[in-house]
Amino acid sequence: MRIKRLRLTGFKSFVDPADLRIESGLTGVVGPNGCGKSNLLEALRWVMGETSAKSMRGAGMDDVIFAGTATRPQRDFAEVSILADQVIDVGTGQGEELEVVRRIERGAGSAYRINGRDVRAKDVALAFADAATGAHSPALVSQGRIGAIIAAKPAERRAMLEEAAGIAGLHVRRKDAEAR
Ligand code: ATP
Ligand code: MG
Repeated sequence: MRIKRLRLTGFKSFVDPADLRIESGLTGVVGPNGCGKSNLLEALRWVMGETSAKSMRGAGMDDVIFAGTATRPQRDFAEVSILADQVIDVGTGQGEELEVVRRIERGAGSAYRINGRDVRAKDVALAFADAATGAHSPALVSQGRIGAIIAAKPAERRAMLEEAAGIAGLHVRRKDAEAR
């Protein structure tokens, strides 16, 4: 899976719609302290289904919604979308575009869409787990993460390896099948 575009509206400091094309060759995002670099990475994790407000540096999930400044009122919703190329047949290399949208309304929680269809948070998590990526992908290394890997218990480290190997989605499905 290759993420081609990230769009944000009302997400943290990105109050106005922002559209980022992620082209090959992009190696870094630079800017002064507090300009929103980390917020971008958080938006990526959030749209892929992050459920921990704490890991988004907030007390509650509503904290991802633009909170207002001295000159601009707060927003009532935040929306992030990503567009990705997804290989659906490894043999032929055939693929399709995948658009995932997550929207949160103040006090009302999150809703997800995949290619325009309303889906559950779980469907989004599965779509990314199958592509060996997602909100907890080892490819997204946030501050403090290296130390966490070193200090991780064996079971936690195994979970990271399974995510990297792309088999995390199978565990979710097995648990699901066992619960039926
Ligand atoms: P650094 O170089 O210090 O790591 P950065 O570019 O990573 O900075 P971020 O941490 O992404 O910066 O952005 C922080 C900014 O986002 C702060 O100015 C903070 O006030 C703003 N911010 C965070 N959440 C919200 C919110 N809900 N509403 C409005 N602004 C927000
Ligand atoms: Mg930062």
